[in-house]
Amino acid sequence: MEKCKSMVLEKPFTMRMKEFDIPDVAAEDMLLKVDMVGICGGDPIEYEGRNKKVHYPLILGHEMVGRIAKIGSEAQKQGFAVGDRVTVEPYIVCGKCEYCLNGLYQFCETSRAYGVNISCNRPPHLFGAYGEYMYVERGSKVHRIAPEVPDEAACMSSVLGNGVRWVRTLGQVKFRETVLVLGLGAQGLVSVIAAKEAGAGPIIVAGKTRNNTKWELAKEFGADYLIDIDKTDALEAIADITGGKMAEVVIETTGANAMMELGISAAKIAGRLVMAGTCGYAQNSLTTDLIVFKELKVLGGLGQSWDTEIAVDIINSRKYPIEKMISQVFPLERADEAMKFYMTEKSKTIRVAIKP
Ligand SMILES: [Zn+2]
Ligand SMILES: [Zn+2]
Repeated sequence: MEKCKSMVLEKPFTMRMKEFDIPDVAAEDMLLKVDMVGICGGDPIEYEGRNKKVHYPLILGHEMVGRIAKIGSEAQKQGFAVGDRVTVEPYIVCGKCEYCLNGLYQFCETSRAYGVNISCNRPPHLFGAYGEYMYVERGSKVHRIAPEVPDEAACMSSVLGNGVRWVRTLGQVKFRETVLVLGLGAQGLVSVIAAKEAGAGPIIVAGKTRNNTKWELAKEFGADYLIDIDKTDALEAIADITGGKMAEVVIETTGANAMMELGISAAKIAGRLVMAGTCGYAQNSLTTDLIVFKELKVLGGLGQSWDTEIAVDIINSRKYPIEKMISQVFPLERADEAMKFYMTEKSKTIRVAIKP
């Protein structure tokens, strides 16, 4: 049997290149030849062993683009063929449980996620995209990528899918509404794109970073105002911009206490605050009276469910230079170095990608 290579996380902090048989596919499945995979903001959690539900050994990687190398007869009925360029959503879902049927498949009762919680110790092994091939099982959501889209933009599909969810599905952003995005990481930047696409304006981004590229990208993606919270009184600035009315919708992506508090303060009366940032289950102190007195709608935002269709349309439109969000690309052999670089060089990176 022909062989292929994948980077296997054998246990926390230990990644090794391993050889596997290139598998045949079942009727409803596909095999993807991976062209590029992004290191997700969550990948370090598995790398460091902080996710107790993970069974090692594991092949990481769930933000990928590639070409279909093999496809079963049933899977072809979705309209795909060998050679098609596609991106695959992280979740493998049942389509039959209460959550799947209610459009919340990110909570599917039997959900598994590529590169997160499917060990590679059973055949066909290749359940993560840090490798030459990834096995795509039935229950996966596969989206077509246009030929002119750079790999770097295509592998951001699930990140942008999350942005679409926070801004559009949960935040219900409407034309000409003021959107405040808190945070300038990948999640903040995709939220700017989603807000621009939803017709929002003005779009205000507040955060702190010494990485100029992030500020520039926020602007290129459609931010009208940038507020460096280390240099400016953010609340005053937002009041100035909005004539005192503040922001109809706030998207909080940092999980930092001060930023969540800023979000509550900067939201307009009867506004919406979507909280997408996490803080490792820390308890936070927030002025909850502001939620009451302003009748704010506070919404938790996890991630995509039926939002990636819109994200892929945005990526295929080439309206935004999304590829600039990949700040560094490493070859597969250096995946461990790529991970360490991503974890330690926060001021130099937005998203780091691996090219098998
Ligand atoms: Zn991810
Ligand atoms: Zn389900």
